[in-house]
Amino acid sequence: MKEQVALLIELQKLDDEILQEALKKKELPERIEKLREEIRSREAAVLEKRDLSEAARQSLKESERELKRLAESLSKGKSRLSEVKTNKEYQAMLKEMDTIAEASEAVEDRILRDYERVDESRRVLEEAEAECRNYRERHEGEILEIEREIGKIDLRLEEIQKKHSGAREKVRPELIRRYDMIRQRRNGKAVVSVWKEVCGGCHVNIPPQLYNNLQRHEEFILCPHCNRILYWEDRNGQGQ
Ligand SMILES: [Zn+2]
Repeated sequence: MKEQVALLIELQKLDDEILQEALKKKELPERIEKLREEIRSREAAVLEKRDLSEAARQSLKESERELKRLAESLSKGKSRLSEVKTNKEYQAMLKEMDTIAEASEAVEDRILRDYERVDESRRVLEEAEAECRNYRERHEGEILEIEREIGKIDLRLEEIQKKHSGAREKVRPELIRRYDMIRQRRNGKAVVSVWKEVCGGCHVNIPPQLYNNLQRHEEFILCPHCNRILYWEDRNGQGQ
């Protein structure tokens, strides 16, 4: 019986490990996805800033073209000034040229503001690019590391599974059935240790007689409260 209980203890340990590894295997891809999402959001920010920077440059170009058009009509107006015949026409043309000159000044002011916008949007874009680059450099290695860890978990799981089926084969079938049933009903924990008359599963005291029997390793003993399979763990004898 002692040997069967030892196998069940081993089985419980392996089942716990399988559960833990499976949990990690589920969490790690979620962490990778989170990191990738962070990278994507920074890339999107770069694209947005690039669009704004491009729009600012286009606006500057448009203003410069407009200034050039105004300058051309101003110089055309000047050359036509000598051709006018009446004073009235002359006055009208001067007025028109004044209007053009005013418009030019307004466009020049706009161009100054456009230059500022171009500079500012380029600065913001470069910042976003640097932030994106830094984040990617910092976390791409981390993603690789996690991917390697997932690979290691697969190997570890394979190894544990092998030991697991080896141990299961050696346990008597009726014990395996009970073990499986208890695990199902007791949240994965079927085999628990007892120390100083306290069940490690439900933390309730077990009767002294049962505790004595447990220490002799002769019988298969279940906790009277939670029905888990019990074994005595000599915590004084650790390391012996
Ligand atoms: Zn118990």
